[in-house]
Amino acid sequence: MTEKYDVIIVGAGAAGMMSAIEAGKRGRRVLLIDHAKKIGEKIRISGGGRCNFTNINTHPCKFISNNPKFVISALKQYTQNDFIELIKKHDIRFHEKKLGQLFCDESAQQIIDMLLLECEAANVILKVDTLITDIDKQGDKYFAVIDSNKYFCDSLIIATGGLSIPKIGATKFGYDIAQKFNLNIVETLPALVPLTFSEKILAICKELTGLSVEAVVSFKKILFQEGMLFTHRGLSGPSILQISSHWKLGKDIKINLSPKLPIIKFLTDKKNSNPKQDINIIISEILPKRLAVIICNENNVSGNICELSNKILVKLSNSINAWSINPTGTEGYRTAEVTLGGIDTNEISSKTMMSKKHAGLFFIGEVVDVTGHLGGYNFQWAWSSGYVAGRYA
Ligand SMILES: Cc1cc2nc3c(=O)[nH]c(=O)nc-3n(C[C@H](O)[C@H](O)[C@H](O)COP(=O)(O)OP(=O)(O)OC[C@H]3O[C@@H](n4cnc5c(N)ncnc54)[C@H](O)[C@@H]3O)c2cc1C
Repeated sequence: MTEKYDVIIVGAGAAGMMSAIEAGKRGRRVLLIDHAKKIGEKIRISGGGRCNFTNINTHPCKFISNNPKFVISALKQYTQNDFIELIKKHDIRFHEKKLGQLFCDESAQQIIDMLLLECEAANVILKVDTLITDIDKQGDKYFAVIDSNKYFCDSLIIATGGLSIPKIGATKFGYDIAQKFNLNIVETLPALVPLTFSEKILAICKELTGLSVEAVVSFKKILFQEGMLFTHRGLSGPSILQISSHWKLGKDIKINLSPKLPIIKFLTDKKNSNPKQDINIIISEILPKRLAVIICNENNVSGNICELSNKILVKLSNSINAWSINPTGTEGYRTAEVTLGGIDTNEISSKTMMSKKHAGLFFIGEVVDVTGHLGGYNFQWAWSSGYVAGRYA
């Protein structure tokens, strides 16, 4: 048996649904296929169940790619404001949490329901729980093989996402298709992911599990100032997740645990003004007590501040303002929010998201070598790239 469609989209996540809606609105006969029983699972679990669906500060500088200019066209063709309009049209209430991050007031499920309604209105045919065993090209048509049946189309859109959280349906399908069509792939790595450490630092993290501090975390010249969380596996929290997308294995990251205060000046002033004050109590004035105790122990300091040499005070302040540590790795795809790397943007038109080598073959969303910072940028990339492909497929 064979069936014919104008557009077949593989992957009914954020990008796939968006492209299906746009292609459907243009009157294209669209088949949207997903192997999962429940679609939009990443949307459902995102933003702690409230989906940080976009960021009002969306700008190309918030995306990592071998070609940083690649995102410009899609982000212009479908902006954060366009998505906000769609949300408003469906009466979904939302709020800004911080730093321009927009979340649903109620539930991420509202976004999935909205996309499904839009798909229905655009006459998109949705096939879930469906295994594609092959994808190929015959003449100028692409086809997907499902249960030995061939589903032909003029335009094939690959929207199978990245590798993170395999337990909810992530696969390497998109990369395999790219390889089959001889497209280059930029090395993939887990990103927006907690960092892990060897014994000594891990012991500190374990002791401080659950403690969150505002910190500046940097790698080379890239820095992020947000919360940092100690966990029983290492370090997490927004600033760590952000730096994980830039950090390179074997290199150190630097952490400023007291970004607002140059500690050496503070300690020198204290030594002059209150020489008999205990160093543990002084450090507890600027850091949570548990952390202050550990820092003093690690630096072997105790007693009155007047008993500590200036050299020791410099060492102590460096361990607070410039704590340099060497992650041994990341928690990997099991907990990573996104995948760094993917289909090389040199292979794709930034205007249409279509392969430059294979007319009619499109790649969108996270499977492409575009990774947003934390804060709603990854969904905005899914909406923008999905919209663009839907306009041209
Ligand atoms: C825990 C978590 C929280 C997140 N929170 C946010 C957030 O708040 N804000 C934000 O901007 N980003 C967030 N992200 C990132 C965001 O979810 C992704 O960047 C986004 O979903 C990517 O969209 P996509 O459509 O490219 O891929 P996905 O949404 O991953 O969709 C891919 C689809 O393809 C399907 N698929 C995979 N393989 C096959 C196959 N072989 N055959 C058929 N179908 C297949 C999958 O089942 C899935 O439905 C979060 C990610 C995680 C893991």
